[in-house]
Amino acid sequence: MADIKRAFLVKYGEIAIKGKNRYIFENILADHIREALKPCGDFRVSKEQGRIFVEPHSDYDYDPVIKKLSRIFGIVAICPVMVLENMDFEIIKQTALMYMKEEYDEFNFTFKVESRRADKRFPLNSMEIACEVGAYLLDNIPELTVDVRKPDVKVWVEIRTRVYVYSKIIKGLGGMPVGSNGKAMLMLSGGIDSPVAGYLIAKRGVKLDAIYYHSHPYTSERAKEKVVDLAKIVSRYSGRINLNVVPFTDIQLYIYEQCPHEQLTIIMRRIMMRIAEKVAERDGALALVTGESIGQVASQTIQSLTTTNAVCEMPVFRPLIGFDKQEIVDISEKIETYETSILPYEDCCTIFVAKHPVTKPSLKSIERSERRLEKIDDMIEEAINNIELIKVTPDE
Ligand code: ATP
Ligand code: MG
Repeated sequence: MADIKRAFLVKYGEIAIKGKNRYIFENILADHIREALKPCGDFRVSKEQGRIFVEPHSDYDYDPVIKKLSRIFGIVAICPVMVLENMDFEIIKQTALMYMKEEYDEFNFTFKVESRRADKRFPLNSMEIACEVGAYLLDNIPELTVDVRKPDVKVWVEIRTRVYVYSKIIKGLGGMPVGSNGKAMLMLSGGIDSPVAGYLIAKRGVKLDAIYYHSHPYTSERAKEKVVDLAKIVSRYSGRINLNVVPFTDIQLYIYEQCPHEQLTIIMRRIMMRIAEKVAERDGALALVTGESIGQVASQTIQSLTTTNAVCEMPVFRPLIGFDKQEIVDISEKIETYETSILPYEDCCTIFVAKHPVTKPSLKSIERSERRLEKIDDMIEEAINNIELIKVTPDE
């Protein structure tokens, strides 16, 4: 039957409730879908009654399309559908049967037909459509069993401007489309936590820039490559990331020379925050993001976090603040940053750490030590002027 096609229905959740702004969110989501599917073939992406309809106009492979779609924030579900441009009920029933035969090899499951009728001119109501299609499927596939309460499979028949038949609902990531909620600056190290933090903030629709402090030669070229690789993986979900690589060696050595060693980490982190805030302001990012979590290390006690936080005015988002390490590891495995994060390249924080770092720093004593850093403002400016910008795009 020539008027039957295969396509994908994309369902979104939260963005549907955004009132007047709704179309902005929908447009962003549709753009992300178009962009993501470019390497997979020729697709027409259109908005249709509170969902997005993705229609192939060329040959394509099914799995890569699903993989791409299932990485786009804002998508709640992806339904591979059979679409019929004909409202003849006999043809609708035959289409449902054809769908079942193509979709399933065996029929040793229970099912139920669910129906929706958006076009009220259609002569049967939802209930009647469901009953008749169900009976037709049973007649033609005797192995099937009906279970209206808890079926293994729900077969949807939706009558809108066209007819959609589907039964498989592939769960999406949820969240909101990236770019619908401004931009933030992710402080990205080579560790496990910060890529996960970036992922979680991007999930809320926030576009990401990133900043990485590189202390060459104490941190190797490989350590930098590792951060670039992590940014690439995060960008599979967040889209392109501008990664700012800040030359940090001189500043680190200067703090090392001038300040009490047990305070090194806190002072270094405060300077990282100052630099991140300046670069964020320069580039239009509205907040900073870190991978900190309470109590994980000496620099993440409440006192340490407070002392670090006090240095900048911009909001600092710490989405992992209440997470256990294992919970963070679980997400990093799911998003596939874990394997890269655990590669053993030094990061700049592990080189200059003191044996007994302060765990309850007082802001006053830290500020007193920092007064010794007379040249620090110039050094910060110099570091920012010498940032290497790497434009990171998804690696797959
Ligand atoms: P991660 O696993 O993200 O490296 P961590 O547990 O090692 O975190 P710290 O080293 O104390 O924790 O760093 C806390 C946060 O500071 C990191 O999550 C990250 O956001 C930021 N950060 C640390 N080092 C760097 C760096 N070299 N460049 C950019 N950001 C950094
Ligand atoms: Mg780290």
